[in-house]
Amino acid sequence: MKARLQVMKFGGTSVGDASCIARTAQIIAKAAKEGGCVAVVSAMSGVTNRLIEAAKKAEAGDAREAAAILDTLRQQHETALTSLVQQEDERARIRQRMEEVFAEGRRLCEGTALLRELTPRALDAISSLGERLSAPLVAAAVSELGLQSEAIEATELIVTDAFHGGAEPRMELTRAKSQTRLRPLLEKGIAPVVTGFIGATTEGQLTTLGRGGSDYSATILGAAMDADEVIIWTDVDGVLTADPRLVAEARTIPVISYREAAELAYFGAKVLHPKTLNPVVQAAIPVWIRNSFAPEKPGTKITPEGRSIGGGVKALTAIRDVTLISVGGPGIVGLPDVVGRTFSTTAEVRANVLLISQSSSQNDICFIVSTVDAQRTVEALRKEFAHDLAHHKVEHITVDSNIAIVAVVGENMRGTPGIAGRTFNALGRDNVNVIAIAQGSSESNISFVIDVKAVKTALNTTHREFALAASPT
Ligand code: ADP
Ligand code: ASP
Ligand code: MG
Repeated sequence: MKARLQVMKFGGTSVGDASCIARTAQIIAKAAKEGGCVAVVSAMSGVTNRLIEAAKKAEAGDAREAAAILDTLRQQHETALTSLVQQEDERARIRQRMEEVFAEGRRLCEGTALLRELTPRALDAISSLGERLSAPLVAAAVSELGLQSEAIEATELIVTDAFHGGAEPRMELTRAKSQTRLRPLLEKGIAPVVTGFIGATTEGQLTTLGRGGSDYSATILGAAMDADEVIIWTDVDGVLTADPRLVAEARTIPVISYREAAELAYFGAKVLHPKTLNPVVQAAIPVWIRNSFAPEKPGTKITPEGRSIGGGVKALTAIRDVTLISVGGPGIVGLPDVVGRTFSTTAEVRANVLLISQSSSQNDICFIVSTVDAQRTVEALRKEFAHDLAHHKVEHITVDSNIAIVAVVGENMRGTPGIAGRTFNALGRDNVNVIAIAQGSSESNISFVIDVKAVKTALNTTHREFALAASPT
């Protein structure tokens, strides 16, 4: 019988310091002994942000400040290493590996500072250093428990396209590479610890999968390795009915469907990277979200069908870093291809469109993208419509960043009348002004646009309206 294979991903807080790494190593060792385990690890918490900061300093010509940041990170990793690994020769071996990564980081920052230019390729290379440092630490901690372990850079496993900062995997090539590299290790009882977040093009150029992308790395490897399950270990008990930082009474959802979890992730529930479920849908591999600080708790199981509950609404989410773009003016009525051109332009710059609203008078097309995508989207649109703007056929292309999207999610909302009515009534009662509304034809999501300042009120009001703190599971 084939041994049970688990792919386990540990987020930044789960590898945040030596004691967290030690706890993570225990979880990996236990799973590896029970069957097979491929671990995927994020950078230590906060490290990716610091690296990006160093890259930006370098771009501004401040090589000294960039080097200072790298130096602080070096001390942080050294502290963890000292406390995790007892033997000096083993410590020296890992220190050597980390030094090579830091030397690469310094060279990249120096080059950037010299040119005063930060290419997407260099930014990927710099921001990926954190995972390349945490993986050897975690592997060392597993070895300390008496189980063989090897740190592996995902550039050896995950093949992607060349879209830096948000690369997409090429699954067949990834499958071939991962199987060839990881199977022999698993057969020998060696636990691989793979860097999350990164991949490489067919030419071997390092890419990243986007911020928070280690979740995606885990399911990519889960699918590539035909894993029995993927477990995403984080710092909360599972998928909650709302972000616990905004809704104090949010509670853990025991079982949720792929579709529901994907809607939540897509609309900003940080607990899952939006693309996390894509690779596992076809093979129907279950994904668990569990708390590495409370491994005795069952967590949330994400399955193809989920589990139906009475009320219809399962969870709420909000995205705040979004921008409303509006293309319009009375003249666009006579331009039949405005909609087509608008969205082929957003597609060309790979801006993810989160919500679209167009009134029947066709005066305005409003849509929402992530704020990080907004500037390049607007620039591309101004270029696309330059001629029409000059001739006043398109009158404006405007942006508004002080907004947020809130989504009410649940597969059973389909066929449950009155949910939209109850939502907007409750919001009205609490004086939350709704700017735009969208409901997909799948009816598993109602989303609305509000002022960013009203997010907390909107979430708490809606949570209370649907009694999510108490709903049956
Ligand atoms: P990791 O570093 O493990 O990847 P993240 O910080 O990316 O962890 O994601 C976990 C965080 O997601 C939680 O601490 C929580 O604040 C936030 N979060 C937002 N929405 C939800 C939700 N619906 N359920 C659980 N956590 C959520
Ligand atoms: N370290 C990366 C980030 O902070 C990837 C991840 O943690 O998932 O975005
Ligand atoms: Mg995350």
